[in-house]
Amino acid sequence: MHVPEQIPDHLDFVGRGWHPLLTRLHEQLVAVSPSYSVQQVKEKYGTLRIHLYTGMLRHLNLGNTDWPDPDQAARYKDEDDAARALVHAAEQESARTCEACGNPGVPRDRAWIKTLCDDCAGHR
Ligand SMILES: [Zn+2]
Repeated sequence: MHVPEQIPDHLDFVGRGWHPLLTRLHEQLVAVSPSYSVQQVKEKYGTLRIHLYTGMLRHLNLGNTDWPDPDQAARYKDEDDAARALVHAAEQESARTCEACGNPGVPRDRAWIKTLCDDCAGHR
């Protein structure tokens, strides 16, 4: 069976400070959406942005053109809602987590915005 790319395959698109957060998100996601796959994991404006294929999106992305029956559609919706809540929580947490080292951090507004702890931002 083809295993679609999941978060562990996309860790290197962001700093290692966020890797534990992403690994935990992956473990939470497989509990509610075992065959989820990643569209994109990136950093934008200082926070994580995670786009996934779950539920109905995955159904369509796999080339299905049939509309799922009501029971399946309801399961897809539950899956989508659960995954979206987990992703949202992780994105929020990234705004409080240094992308470079994982310590508590805050978004730093420079030429670009990065979420960093004092040490990694060069403060003392
Ligand atoms: Zn740091």
